Amino acid sequence: MKLTRRHFIKSSLFLGGSLLLSDLPLYAENRKDLQWYPAYGKLEQAGKLAQRVDQAYSSLKECELCPRQCGADRLNGEQGFCEASAKLMVYSTQPHFGEEMSLVGQGGSGTIFFSKCNLRCVFCQNWPISHKGYGKEIRDDDLAEMMLHLQKIGCHNINLVTPTHVMPHIVNAVRIAFKKGLRLPLVYNTSGYERFEILKILDGIVDIYLPDMKFMDADQAEKYLGEASDYPEMSQQAVLEMHRQVGLHRADSRGIAVRGLMIRHLVMPNRVAGTDKFIRWVSENLPKSTYVNIMHQYYPDYEAFDYPDIWRRINVNEYLEAMRWADQYGLTNLDPDSIRIRKLYEKQKL
Ligand code: SF4
Repeated sequence: MKLTRRHFIKSSLFLGGSLLLSDLPLYAENRKDLQWYPAYGKLEQAGKLAQRVDQAYSSLKECELCPRQCGADRLNGEQGFCEASAKLMVYSTQPHFGEEMSLVGQGGSGTIFFSKCNLRCVFCQNWPISHKGYGKEIRDDDLAEMMLHLQKIGCHNINLVTPTHVMPHIVNAVRIAFKKGLRLPLVYNTSGYERFEILKILDGIVDIYLPDMKFMDADQAEKYLGEASDYPEMSQQAVLEMHRQVGLHRADSRGIAVRGLMIRHLVMPNRVAGTDKFIRWVSENLPKSTYVNIMHQYYPDYEAFDYPDIWRRINVNEYLEAMRWADQYGLTNLDPDSIRIRKLYEKQKL
């Protein structure tokens, strides 16, 4: 059975919250791909990574890490919209086999799921973690050890889920872990609600950006994304900056992603996500060979049942329509799973 993110969250909940690292099996310790040399390693060797840690932490004083720019003094315990203080909280860490194929490979994507979120969608499928803040408080040193452990057990990358509000901790932990041997690519798995000015701190640290582009219209973003009416503008600026930093998706000889931009877009019922506009925007602003995952997995969760337009799954026609737009606008690097689903749906219609 293919493990989806939903299964991943459910299994973690079933296990009573954070998975214990000591419970994870050890396998594939002798990894050839540990020869990979990550972007953050080059930055550390140039003597610049420590500066980035300081720069990132200074953003917590009057927090401006995301477009909400709450100004909360998180270093002194204040909380902004995301309800995060200066304390780092992690819900779970484990190899994940439900991400994009080039992130999963054989060893899995080394997922670290951070508690809380700066966007807080009404249809959030991870709401116990992102809205309710389930998780355990840890130190940056512990986060570094988690990264090292995921490397040791054979994961192909460190997949940082919902990282925006804890970016300073991540940068610090990466520096600690690098000195202890971390060599895996970092995957910045974000909602896309980012400030491009803050992303510049990550230039030369992150190897793979994995942003969502959720909505293209301000009014829909206002309604469904925690009143973030500037989401379309902010996410578009952010994705352009991500592409400037890491370029197109690249994989090694085994097909494992090592660098680049991978965009996710979730097709929503009744066209509320603006999928046609999203595809057109990509085709007009990025190379047509940009990696795009047009996702079919939407299901209503959390407060979605209060919104009639999104209280159902999408249907076959809505997904096929989205894939036809991708053809129409000439996108050439669609996620293999999205192509597989398209074929499946087309057969169903015959
Ligand atoms: S990260 Fe949190 S506190 Fe900081 S600006 Fe964003 S929502 Fe506000």
